[in-house]
Amino acid sequence: MVYRNVYEAVLGTINFLINMILIDGKKEAADLRGELRGEVLKLKSEHNKIPGLTVILIGDLTPSQIYVRNKEKAANEVGLKSEVIKYPDSVEEKTILDKIKELNIDDSVSGILVQLPLPKHINKQHVIETISPDKDVDGLHPMNVGNLSSGYQGSIPCTPLGCYFLIKKVEPNLRGKKAVMVGRSNLNGKAMAQLLLQEDCTVTITHSKTKDLQGECLEADVIVAAVGIPELIKGDWVKKDTIVIDVGINKTENGIVGDVKFDEVSKVAKALTPVPGGVGPMTIACLLKNTIECFKRAQKK
Ligand code: NAD
Repeated sequence: MVYRNVYEAVLGTINFLINMILIDGKKEAADLRGELRGEVLKLKSEHNKIPGLTVILIGDLTPSQIYVRNKEKAANEVGLKSEVIKYPDSVEEKTILDKIKELNIDDSVSGILVQLPLPKHINKQHVIETISPDKDVDGLHPMNVGNLSSGYQGSIPCTPLGCYFLIKKVEPNLRGKKAVMVGRSNLNGKAMAQLLLQEDCTVTITHSKTKDLQGECLEADVIVAAVGIPELIKGDWVKKDTIVIDVGINKTENGIVGDVKFDEVSKVAKALTPVPGGVGPMTIACLLKNTIECFKRAQKK
Protein backbone atom coordinates (compact mmCIF):
# COMPACT_ATOMS: atom_id res chain seq x y z
CA MET A 1 0.00 0.00 0.00
CA VAL A 2 1.44 3.40 -0.98
CA TYR A 3 0.18 6.49 0.85
CA ARG A 4 0.38 9.95 -0.70
CA ASN A 5 0.62 11.83 2.61
CA VAL A 6 0.62 11.46 6.38
CA TYR A 7 -3.17 11.88 6.56
CA GLU A 8 -3.73 8.95 4.23
CA ALA A 9 -1.14 6.88 6.09
CA VAL A 10 -2.93 7.50 9.41
CA LEU A 11 -6.31 6.68 7.87
CA GLY A 12 -4.86 3.56 6.29
CA THR A 13 -3.48 2.43 9.64
CA ILE A 14 -6.79 3.06 11.41
CA ASN A 15 -8.65 1.15 8.71
CA PHE A 16 -6.19 -1.70 9.02
CA LEU A 17 -6.61 -1.80 12.81
CA ILE A 18 -10.38 -1.83 12.73
CA ASN A 19 -10.47 -4.10 9.70
CA MET A 20 -12.49 -1.82 7.48
CA ILE A 21 -12.20 -2.54 3.78
CA LEU A 22 -11.09 0.57 1.94
CA ILE A 23 -12.46 -0.17 -1.52
CA ASP A 24 -9.76 0.70 -4.01
CA GLY A 25 -11.66 1.92 -7.06
CA LYS A 26 -8.44 2.80 -8.88
CA LYS A 27 -7.21 -0.77 -8.66
CA GLU A 28 -10.57 -2.32 -9.56
CA ALA A 29 -10.84 0.03 -12.55
CA ALA A 30 -7.30 -0.84 -13.68
CA ASP A 31 -8.15 -4.56 -13.41
CA LEU A 32 -11.34 -4.04 -15.43
CA ARG A 33 -9.45 -2.03 -18.09
CA GLY A 34 -6.94 -4.88 -18.29
CA GLU A 35 -9.77 -7.37 -18.98
CA LEU A 36 -11.30 -5.03 -21.55
CA ARG A 37 -7.97 -4.63 -23.34
CA GLY A 38 -7.87 -8.40 -23.81
CA GLU A 39 -11.45 -8.39 -25.03
CA VAL A 40 -10.77 -5.66 -27.61
CA LEU A 41 -7.85 -7.67 -29.00
CA LYS A 42 -10.06 -10.75 -29.26
CA LEU A 43 -12.87 -8.79 -30.98
CA LYS A 44 -10.36 -7.30 -33.38
CA SER A 45 -9.14 -10.72 -34.44
CA GLU A 46 -12.70 -12.08 -34.74
CA HIS A 47 -14.29 -9.16 -36.62
CA ASN A 48 -11.33 -7.35 -38.12
CA LYS A 49 -12.52 -4.09 -36.55
CA ILE A 50 -12.54 -2.48 -33.14
CA PRO A 51 -15.26 -0.85 -31.05
CA GLY A 52 -15.40 2.94 -31.35
CA LEU A 53 -16.50 5.55 -28.81
CA THR A 54 -17.51 9.05 -29.90
CA VAL A 55 -17.88 11.77 -27.28
CA ILE A 56 -19.57 15.09 -28.03
CA LEU A 57 -18.34 17.94 -25.86
CA ILE A 58 -20.19 21.25 -25.91
CA GLY A 59 -18.70 24.39 -24.38
CA ASP A 60 -15.61 24.87 -22.28
CA LEU A 61 -16.64 23.90 -18.73
CA THR A 62 -13.43 22.78 -17.06
CA PRO A 63 -14.80 19.68 -15.24
CA SER A 64 -16.41 18.43 -18.47
CA GLN A 65 -13.15 18.94 -20.34
CA ILE A 66 -11.27 16.97 -17.68
CA TYR A 67 -13.83 14.12 -17.72
CA VAL A 68 -13.72 13.91 -21.50
CA ARG A 69 -9.91 13.93 -21.54
CA ASN A 70 -9.87 11.10 -18.98
CA LYS A 71 -12.41 9.12 -20.98
CA GLU A 72 -10.38 9.54 -24.17
CA LYS A 73 -7.19 8.48 -22.41
CA ALA A 74 -8.84 5.38 -20.93
CA ALA A 75 -10.43 4.46 -24.28
CA ASN A 76 -7.05 4.65 -25.99
CA GLU A 77 -5.48 2.60 -23.22
CA VAL A 78 -7.81 -0.36 -23.83
CA GLY A 79 -7.41 -0.06 -27.60
CA LEU A 80 -10.81 1.40 -28.52
CA LYS A 81 -11.17 3.78 -31.42
CA SER A 82 -11.91 7.07 -29.74
CA GLU A 83 -13.07 10.40 -31.08
CA VAL A 84 -14.05 13.66 -29.37
CA ILE A 85 -16.18 16.15 -31.31
CA LYS A 86 -16.14 19.64 -29.81
CA TYR A 87 -18.66 22.43 -30.26
CA PRO A 88 -18.75 25.95 -28.83
CA ASP A 89 -21.28 26.84 -26.13
CA SER A 90 -23.34 28.73 -28.71
CA VAL A 91 -23.94 25.72 -30.97
CA GLU A 92 -27.56 25.21 -32.04
CA GLU A 93 -29.46 22.19 -30.77
CA LYS A 94 -30.22 21.14 -34.37
CA THR A 95 -26.51 20.88 -35.17
CA ILE A 96 -26.03 18.49 -32.26
CA LEU A 97 -29.10 16.40 -33.12
CA ASP A 98 -28.03 16.18 -36.78
CA LYS A 99 -24.54 15.05 -35.76
CA ILE A 100 -26.00 12.38 -33.46
CA LYS A 101 -28.21 11.10 -36.30
CA GLU A 102 -25.13 10.89 -38.52
CA LEU A 103 -23.22 8.95 -35.83
CA ASN A 104 -26.22 6.63 -35.29
CA ILE A 105 -25.80 5.23 -38.83
CA ASP A 106 -21.98 5.21 -38.83
CA ASP A 107 -20.83 1.59 -38.50
CA SER A 108 -17.45 2.59 -37.09
CA VAL A 109 -19.16 4.16 -34.05
CA SER A 110 -20.29 1.67 -31.40
CA GLY A 111 -21.07 4.13 -28.63
CA ILE A 112 -22.10 7.79 -28.47
CA LEU A 113 -21.85 9.93 -25.36
CA VAL A 114 -22.87 13.58 -25.08
CA GLN A 115 -21.08 15.03 -22.08
CA LEU A 116 -23.48 16.56 -19.55
CA PRO A 117 -24.32 19.19 -18.41
CA LEU A 118 -25.48 20.91 -21.58
CA PRO A 119 -25.83 24.65 -22.20
CA LYS A 120 -29.31 25.89 -21.15
CA HIS A 121 -30.60 26.34 -24.72
CA ILE A 122 -30.06 22.66 -25.56
CA ASN A 123 -32.79 20.29 -24.38
CA LYS A 124 -31.22 17.30 -22.59
CA GLN A 125 -34.19 15.07 -23.29
CA HIS A 126 -34.03 15.77 -27.05
CA VAL A 127 -30.35 14.86 -27.03
CA ILE A 128 -30.75 11.67 -25.01
CA GLU A 129 -33.70 10.47 -27.09
CA THR A 130 -31.92 11.15 -30.39
CA ILE A 131 -29.03 8.81 -29.55
CA SER A 132 -29.85 5.32 -30.84
CA PRO A 133 -30.58 3.06 -27.82
CA ASP A 134 -28.10 0.62 -29.41
CA LYS A 135 -25.28 3.20 -29.08
CA ASP A 136 -26.42 4.84 -25.83
CA VAL A 137 -23.34 4.07 -23.70
CA ASP A 138 -24.63 6.26 -20.85
CA GLY A 139 -27.73 4.08 -20.50
CA LEU A 140 -29.99 7.14 -20.24
CA HIS A 141 -32.26 6.55 -23.26
CA PRO A 142 -35.81 5.71 -22.07
CA MET A 143 -35.53 2.39 -23.92
CA ASN A 144 -32.47 1.43 -21.86
CA VAL A 145 -34.07 2.70 -18.65
CA GLY A 146 -36.97 0.36 -19.44
CA ASN A 147 -34.61 -2.49 -20.32
CA LEU A 148 -32.88 -2.16 -16.97
CA SER A 149 -36.08 -2.08 -14.97
CA SER A 150 -37.42 -5.08 -16.93
CA GLY A 151 -34.18 -7.02 -16.54
CA TYR A 152 -33.61 -7.02 -20.32
CA GLN A 153 -30.32 -6.54 -22.11
CA GLY A 154 -29.19 -2.95 -22.73
CA SER A 155 -26.76 -0.29 -21.57
CA ILE A 156 -26.66 0.39 -17.83
CA PRO A 157 -25.60 3.85 -16.58
CA CYS A 158 -21.84 3.77 -15.99
CA THR A 159 -21.68 5.07 -12.42
CA PRO A 160 -24.25 2.66 -10.92
CA LEU A 161 -22.68 -0.18 -12.90
CA GLY A 162 -19.29 0.70 -11.41
CA CYS A 163 -20.79 0.88 -7.91
CA TYR A 164 -22.42 -2.51 -8.48
CA PHE A 165 -19.08 -4.12 -9.34
CA LEU A 166 -17.47 -2.58 -6.24
CA ILE A 167 -20.28 -3.79 -3.95
CA LYS A 168 -20.17 -7.31 -5.43
CA LYS A 169 -16.43 -7.42 -4.89
CA VAL A 170 -16.97 -6.96 -1.14
CA GLU A 171 -20.17 -9.01 -0.88
CA PRO A 172 -20.86 -11.42 -3.76
CA ASN A 173 -24.17 -12.60 -2.27
CA LEU A 174 -26.53 -9.69 -1.73
CA ARG A 175 -29.74 -11.72 -1.45
CA GLY A 176 -32.05 -10.33 1.23
CA LYS A 177 -29.75 -7.42 2.12
CA LYS A 178 -31.31 -4.06 2.83
CA ALA A 179 -29.96 -1.44 0.43
CA VAL A 180 -30.60 2.27 0.80
CA MET A 181 -30.05 4.69 -2.09
CA VAL A 182 -29.54 8.26 -0.96
CA GLY A 183 -30.58 10.34 -3.98
CA ARG A 184 -33.05 9.42 -6.71
CA SER A 185 -31.51 10.80 -9.91
CA ASN A 186 -32.03 8.85 -13.14
CA LEU A 187 -28.26 8.76 -13.54
CA ASN A 188 -27.51 7.28 -10.13
CA GLY A 189 -30.07 6.41 -7.44
CA LYS A 190 -32.85 4.98 -9.62
CA ALA A 191 -30.56 2.87 -11.82
CA MET A 192 -28.60 1.65 -8.80
CA ALA A 193 -31.85 0.61 -7.13
CA GLN A 194 -32.75 -1.52 -10.17
CA LEU A 195 -29.37 -3.26 -10.17
CA LEU A 196 -29.65 -4.09 -6.47
CA LEU A 197 -33.26 -5.26 -6.88
CA GLN A 198 -31.98 -7.73 -9.46
CA GLU A 199 -29.62 -9.00 -6.77
CA ASP A 200 -32.63 -9.66 -4.52
CA CYS A 201 -31.91 -6.79 -2.17
CA THR A 202 -34.76 -5.00 -0.44
CA VAL A 203 -34.28 -1.50 -1.76
CA THR A 204 -35.28 1.88 -0.34
CA ILE A 205 -34.80 5.02 -2.41
CA THR A 206 -34.48 8.16 -0.32
CA HIS A 207 -34.39 11.79 -1.46
CA SER A 208 -34.57 15.39 -0.30
CA LYS A 209 -38.11 14.97 1.10
CA THR A 210 -37.40 11.75 3.01
CA LYS A 211 -38.49 12.26 6.63
CA ASP A 212 -35.91 10.28 8.58
CA LEU A 213 -32.84 9.80 6.40
CA GLN A 214 -30.61 8.85 9.32
CA GLY A 215 -33.13 6.20 10.43
CA GLU A 216 -33.31 4.75 6.89
CA CYS A 217 -29.52 4.63 6.63
CA LEU A 218 -29.19 2.99 10.04
CA GLU A 219 -31.17 -0.01 8.75
CA ALA A 220 -29.03 -0.47 5.65
CA ASP A 221 -26.57 -3.25 4.86
CA VAL A 222 -25.61 -1.30 1.75
CA ILE A 223 -25.73 2.49 1.37
CA VAL A 224 -25.13 4.21 -1.95
CA ALA A 225 -24.90 7.98 -1.51
CA ALA A 226 -25.37 10.09 -4.67
CA VAL A 227 -26.60 13.43 -3.44
CA GLY A 228 -24.08 16.18 -4.03
CA ILE A 229 -24.05 17.42 -0.40
CA PRO A 230 -20.57 17.35 1.16
CA GLU A 231 -20.23 14.78 3.97
CA LEU A 232 -24.00 14.37 4.48
CA ILE A 233 -23.75 10.78 5.74
CA LYS A 234 -22.26 10.79 9.24
CA GLY A 235 -20.71 8.06 11.37
CA ASP A 236 -23.82 7.67 13.55
CA TRP A 237 -25.96 7.11 10.42
CA VAL A 238 -24.23 3.83 9.63
CA LYS A 239 -24.36 0.53 11.45
CA LYS A 240 -21.47 -1.88 11.76
CA ASP A 241 -21.06 -4.23 8.79
CA THR A 242 -22.56 -1.82 6.25
CA ILE A 243 -21.00 -1.37 2.83
CA VAL A 244 -20.95 2.34 2.00
CA ILE A 245 -20.46 3.57 -1.56
CA ASP A 246 -19.81 7.28 -1.92
CA VAL A 247 -20.69 8.60 -5.38
CA GLY A 248 -20.54 12.29 -4.45
CA ILE A 249 -17.92 14.63 -5.84
CA ASN A 250 -18.10 17.97 -4.05
CA LYS A 251 -15.66 20.81 -4.38
CA THR A 252 -15.09 22.47 -0.99
CA GLU A 253 -12.47 24.85 0.38
CA ASN A 254 -10.75 21.77 1.82
CA GLY A 255 -10.59 20.10 -1.57
CA ILE A 256 -12.78 17.41 -3.15
CA VAL A 257 -14.96 15.46 -0.69
CA GLY A 258 -17.73 12.93 -1.10
CA ASP A 259 -21.28 12.74 0.29
CA VAL A 260 -19.97 10.61 3.18
CA LYS A 261 -18.01 11.88 6.16
CA PHE A 262 -15.06 9.61 5.57
CA ASP A 263 -13.22 9.96 8.90
CA GLU A 264 -16.38 9.05 10.88
CA VAL A 265 -17.91 6.41 8.62
CA SER A 266 -14.59 4.60 8.12
CA LYS A 267 -14.65 3.85 11.86
CA VAL A 268 -17.94 1.94 11.69
CA ALA A 269 -18.54 0.65 8.17
CA LYS A 270 -17.53 -2.76 6.90
CA ALA A 271 -16.32 -1.24 3.65
CA LEU A 272 -16.14 2.26 2.18
CA THR A 273 -15.09 3.91 -1.07
CA PRO A 274 -12.77 6.91 -0.78
CA VAL A 275 -13.29 10.17 -2.72
CA PRO A 276 -11.36 10.55 -4.94
CA GLY A 277 -10.19 7.08 -5.96
CA GLY A 278 -13.42 5.14 -5.41
CA VAL A 279 -16.39 5.31 -7.75
CA GLY A 280 -14.92 7.83 -10.25
CA PRO A 281 -12.36 5.52 -11.91
CA MET A 282 -14.95 2.73 -12.15
CA THR A 283 -17.39 5.05 -13.95
CA ILE A 284 -14.90 5.54 -16.77
CA ALA A 285 -13.98 1.86 -16.95
CA CYS A 286 -17.69 0.99 -17.21
CA LEU A 287 -18.12 3.46 -20.05
CA LEU A 288 -15.50 1.46 -21.96
CA LYS A 289 -17.26 -1.77 -21.01
CA ASN A 290 -20.59 -0.39 -22.28
CA THR A 291 -18.96 0.60 -25.58
CA ILE A 292 -17.63 -2.93 -26.02
CA GLU A 293 -21.03 -4.44 -25.12
CA CYS A 294 -22.73 -2.19 -27.72
CA PHE A 295 -20.19 -3.34 -30.32
CA LYS A 296 -20.81 -7.02 -29.45
CA ARG A 297 -24.60 -6.63 -29.67
CA ALA A 298 -24.23 -4.84 -33.04
CA GLN A 299 -22.22 -7.79 -34.44
CA LYS A 300 -25.08 -10.15 -33.59
CA LYS A 301 -27.71 -8.12 -35.49
P1 NAD B 1 -28.71 15.10 -8.78
O1 NAD B 1 -28.63 16.51 -8.32
O2 NAD B 1 -29.29 14.79 -10.10
O3 NAD B 1 -29.53 14.27 -7.69
C1 NAD B 1 -29.32 14.44 -6.34
C2 NAD B 1 -30.34 13.63 -5.58
O4 NAD B 1 -30.10 13.84 -4.20
C3 NAD B 1 -31.78 14.06 -5.85
O5 NAD B 1 -32.52 12.91 -6.14
C4 NAD B 1 -32.25 14.68 -4.53
O6 NAD B 1 -33.61 14.36 -4.22
C5 NAD B 1 -31.34 14.02 -3.53
N1 NAD B 1 -31.14 14.86 -2.37
C6 NAD B 1 -30.88 16.19 -2.33
N2 NAD B 1 -30.78 16.60 -1.04
C7 NAD B 1 -30.98 15.52 -0.27
C8 NAD B 1 -30.99 15.30 1.12
N3 NAD B 1 -30.81 16.29 1.99
N4 NAD B 1 -31.22 14.05 1.55
C9 NAD B 1 -31.42 13.04 0.68
N5 NAD B 1 -31.39 13.18 -0.64
C10 NAD B 1 -31.19 14.40 -1.12
O7 NAD B 1 -27.24 14.52 -8.61
P2 NAD B 1 -26.49 13.29 -9.33
O8 NAD B 1 -26.26 13.60 -10.75
O9 NAD B 1 -27.14 11.99 -8.98
O10 NAD B 1 -25.07 13.39 -8.59
C11 NAD B 1 -24.96 13.23 -7.19
C12 NAD B 1 -23.51 13.38 -6.80
O11 NAD B 1 -22.76 12.37 -7.45
C13 NAD B 1 -22.86 14.72 -7.21
O12 NAD B 1 -21.93 15.07 -6.22
C14 NAD B 1 -22.14 14.36 -8.50
O13 NAD B 1 -21.02 15.20 -8.74
C15 NAD B 1 -21.69 12.96 -8.19
N6 NAD B 1 -21.44 12.11 -9.35
C16 NAD B 1 -20.32 11.35 -9.34
C17 NAD B 1 -20.05 10.48 -10.38
C18 NAD B 1 -18.82 9.63 -10.32
O14 NAD B 1 -18.41 9.07 -11.32
N7 NAD B 1 -18.23 9.46 -9.15
C19 NAD B 1 -20.93 10.40 -11.46
C20 NAD B 1 -22.10 11.17 -11.44
C21 NAD B 1 -22.35 12.01 -10.38
